[in-house]
Amino acid sequence: MSEVRQNHSLKSSVNPTKIRTVDVAVVGGGIAGKACALGLAQLGLQTVQISPDLGELTPAPQGDQWGQRIYAFSPGTQQLLAHLQIWDALDQSRMQPVRDMRIFGDRGEKSDQLHLSAFESGTPQLAWIGESNVIEHTLDQASRFQNKLERLADTVEKVVVDVAGTTLQLKSGDLIRALLVVAADGAYSPIRTALGIPASEESYSQSAVVANWLSTNVHLETAYQWFLPGGDIVAMLPLPSKQVSMVWSTSPENAAELLKLDQTAWSGKFASIANGAIAQQLGSLTLNSVPAAFPLRKIRASRFIGPEENPKVALIGDAAHVMHPLAGQGLNLGLRDVAALLNILGKRESFRLPNDKVLLRRYERQRQGDTSALLWTTDKLKKLFSGTSGTERQIRNWGLGLVNRSHFIKQRLIERALGEVDFE
Ligand SMILES: Cc1cc2nc3c(=O)[nH]c(=O)nc-3n(C[C@H](O)[C@H](O)[C@H](O)COP(=O)(O)OP(=O)(O)OC[C@H]3O[C@@H](n4cnc5c(N)ncnc54)[C@H](O)[C@@H]3O)c2cc1C
Repeated sequence: MSEVRQNHSLKSSVNPTKIRTVDVAVVGGGIAGKACALGLAQLGLQTVQISPDLGELTPAPQGDQWGQRIYAFSPGTQQLLAHLQIWDALDQSRMQPVRDMRIFGDRGEKSDQLHLSAFESGTPQLAWIGESNVIEHTLDQASRFQNKLERLADTVEKVVVDVAGTTLQLKSGDLIRALLVVAADGAYSPIRTALGIPASEESYSQSAVVANWLSTNVHLETAYQWFLPGGDIVAMLPLPSKQVSMVWSTSPENAAELLKLDQTAWSGKFASIANGAIAQQLGSLTLNSVPAAFPLRKIRASRFIGPEENPKVALIGDAAHVMHPLAGQGLNLGLRDVAALLNILGKRESFRLPNDKVLLRRYERQRQGDTSALLWTTDKLKKLFSGTSGTERQIRNWGLGLVNRSHFIKQRLIERALGEVDFE
């Protein structure tokens, strides 16, 4: 049999100083990479995780100032973290359960509202809101005690795939030889590019301005979202002790203006937008973090494994898909990739290596459907609420009221948002 050799260069070669052979190399030090590396090591696979930001442990967040990166974590994410034995170790005093979600249309009419309730759907909570650092800190702690996992603060510069596995060349000059490579290296994944996996990208011409606030009214464990005329979306997510985390999706120009506002100007903004509903709901809001802005786009890799003929690499997290944050699902979707990969590798037949083509294809098949459905829904919702014509406004606002009156549709929406995963 002739050897398939693909030479995928990220940068010019350097002299190697060390070579390590492992079962799996996870590239990337975000939450998806950290959770995946820990889970693979727990399966007994010799795992190395590589990322330039792995040098220091993430400090445990403390005090009244909350981190900039706040996420909504779905029950599916909770199940994965429980499976990894992380969930119970999290500082629960910094996690806020969400019992209700209220989504408002842009006509300011009472009937244009969608209310999703944990109580009505028979589930304890719809999501949790918490800081990225709480999860990262706990994942870092657990990884320290996992003897099948080695972490390297380094950068992958070159990828060479052959019939048996993959060789990664690191910036330090070290070489890693792995049966399977998991690319968790973010939205502009250098591994995806090096393997020549095409990815479609669409900018939403929007940025998300994020900031944390102290409110005078209680948030009632409710996540609020207002669609504003013109396409802006303001989400106010509940945090412990009368705090809320804001995600305001708006044009890059308006985002730049919002970042310049002082406390008084912000109060004026909240009183003037959404017919004053934000201020009515939450009372006076006092800034409790430094606001920041992130550009918003949709990215989808055409394949989740590569190279095509001889797959030895699996893409997970933002390396495979990036979406608008209006549904708060980007990371949750990435963690469902992790759950699927761990399930498939954990249940593999004894004669199959972790890089067996059959397993990788199984992974890709499982993840394509879920990803397409969520990317499509989020994208269509975003576009529906950006339209400015009278008809579009009418349709979307009626739509909210209509969905609100259908227990069946609401139940399906909640099931999707919960994003349950199975571990046997
Ligand atoms: C405003 C905003 C709000 C959001 N809110 C939510 C929410 O509420 N809920 C939710 O589920 N999602 C949310 N998301 C999405 C979420 O932020 C992302 O999906 C998630 O952070 C992606 O994690 P990741 O681990 O896949 O990638 P990243 O966190 O981007 O990690 C990529 C890693 O790869 C490393 N890397 C890159 N190149 C190399 C290389 N050559 N060698 C080695 N390492 C490399 C990087 O250093 C980094 O550690 C939001 C996004 C935005 C913008």
